[in-house]
Amino acid sequence: MAGKLLSIGECMVELMQAEGDLLRKSFAGDSFNTAYYARMFLPPDWSVDYFSAVGTDTVSEEMLDFIAKTGVGTDYIRRIENRSPGLYMIHLKDGERSFSYWRSQSAAKLLADDAGHLRSAVEASDVIIFSGITLAILAPSSVETLLSELRRAKAVGKLVVFDPNIRPRLWDDKTYMRTTISAGARASSMVMPSFDDETTHFGDTDIAATIGRYRELGVENIIVKDGAKGVTLRFGEGPDAFIASVPVDTIIDTTSAGDSFNGAFLARYVQDGNGKAAAAFAARIAAAVIGHHGALVPVENLNS
Ligand code: ADP
Repeated sequence: MAGKLLSIGECMVELMQAEGDLLRKSFAGDSFNTAYYARMFLPPDWSVDYFSAVGTDTVSEEMLDFIAKTGVGTDYIRRIENRSPGLYMIHLKDGERSFSYWRSQSAAKLLADDAGHLRSAVEASDVIIFSGITLAILAPSSVETLLSELRRAKAVGKLVVFDPNIRPRLWDDKTYMRTTISAGARASSMVMPSFDDETTHFGDTDIAATIGRYRELGVENIIVKDGAKGVTLRFGEGPDAFIASVPVDTIIDTTSAGDSFNGAFLARYVQDGNGKAAAAFAARIAAAVIGHHGALVPVENLNS
């Protein structure tokens, strides 16, 4: 069965320390990474599009070319004069990574400002993905524009998928952060949180508490990721299912573990509705991804 998947968010320019003082340029961002892995594992009769905004400068052109080359559609990415993509730099010191960000003037902060454009993209799609990072970069009025469109999509039975992906440094006001994450979940039919984030920021004592909280917000399907342990699935009234993670001999780079899990999971789940099989598949892919460098691992390195 063919379909259309839309991922909404911010893709950034990534600069990574290379030899000496050189920097290597790439492009990544949670919602784009998820789209990349969904594209990798969906059949050709499914389309995968990215919804965002970039500038009209050279690096924006390069980003669009990069996205298009991965097979993810760029038709819904708006161009905004006098804006540029956000940028982050990965510093490596003694094997530890740290990040610096330049994203306050990022074009993607305006991604929901054209409500008509947003509506046509959402109406044309069957599955819509967004994250807490998508919400964190938007002005409150744009959050509302986006969420009201997603509530409409949920109401007509589309699969609206939310990864809370809580990044406290993106949110000045932590109460607003929690309220907005909860509003994002309420607009969704599926949430895919990481337990680590949920216990830290919502005080959940265990995975059952995370599941209970999202159920109360009216989310039908909940998948709680718990790193090396595994994921717990609650679909509808249950029962819960636990799918163990796949052991990894040598962890090289955990960037994109959650994003690759989400993309691989959705690619399988939308085809047959089998959540447990999709989670087992996604656990294999995420384990392979963290055995390699970078957010976007080429398919030939995943041995699946
Ligand atoms: P996030 O990257 O969003 O914080 P998690 O750390 O929970 O998400 O990881 C997402 C998925 O990646 C897990 O559900 C699991 O499948 C896989 N994963 C993460 N860490 C490990 C690990 N150490 N060993 C095996 N699989 C892992």
